[in-house]
Amino acid sequence: MKEKKDIQKVFSLLERSVTFTPVINKLSNNKASAFRILITTMLSARTKDEVTELAAERLFSKYKNAKEMVFAKAKDIEALIYPVGFYKTKALNVINISKSVINEFNGRVPQNLEKLTSLSGVGLKTATLVLAEAFGMDEICVDTHVHRMSNRLGLVCTKTPEETHYALKKVLPKKLWRKTNFLMVSHGKTVCTPVSPKCSNCVLEKICIKKGVKKKKMGQGTLDTRKDKILSGGYGVSEKASLNKPAPCSLMLFYTSFMPIINLIFINS
Ligand code: SF4
Repeated sequence: MKEKKDIQKVFSLLERSVTFTPVINKLSNNKASAFRILITTMLSARTKDEVTELAAERLFSKYKNAKEMVFAKAKDIEALIYPVGFYKTKALNVINISKSVINEFNGRVPQNLEKLTSLSGVGLKTATLVLAEAFGMDEICVDTHVHRMSNRLGLVCTKTPEETHYALKKVLPKKLWRKTNFLMVSHGKTVCTPVSPKCSNCVLEKICIKKGVKKKKMGQGTLDTRKDKILSGGYGVSEKASLNKPAPCSLMLFYTSFMPIINLIFINS
């Protein structure tokens, strides 16, 4: 991003181009309970959205709330949430979170960052997403997509998602905080992907500085793709040299076809 005034433009363009709704935003739009949003967010760590969504559905079809989950056996929860990543640890987290919600917070999910991060398996990312999506509070949840896109756009210059969380709070107007995760996750999963972002198809192409982007997708087999690959260091030296030369295949074909005849002439002479 070249100028500060582009921030609003980035968000407007992203809003108009959304094609994917993450599972937590779906729950929030459907007014799911704070407890369901909390548990589903905890389950979603290092797990694909489709897998998380189905696992949470299975879990909540058997145990409706914290009161029911507190008496569940870890093995039963494991079977319901499998194959989410770290399902054994997450099954224990489900039981421990339920215990804490009932015993320490009168059966309610706390609306406070410090209290939320005291729960088993709940870090800054999960807590901020719960505050934003379950309680509608102004918070920024920074996951890997938000961290990557914020840096590529030049909104921040940071090394970790946690640094990005605090840096974004300094540069973004408060009214945009809640939208940040939804818009950047949606764009990050479909266009601004970790490897080979589709810059030529991106609505932000003209205002994005593409910091750190080496390889962009521009279609397959075209000269542009080959040049793009060279600029990004994707080709070796010999491949670079060959770009502007005709392919050597025809010369090789000539030698391999006529070598036996040439050999015969020399042997007989
Ligand atoms: S896809 Fe490319 S142009 Fe679009 S936000 Fe990502 S790096 Fe910027």
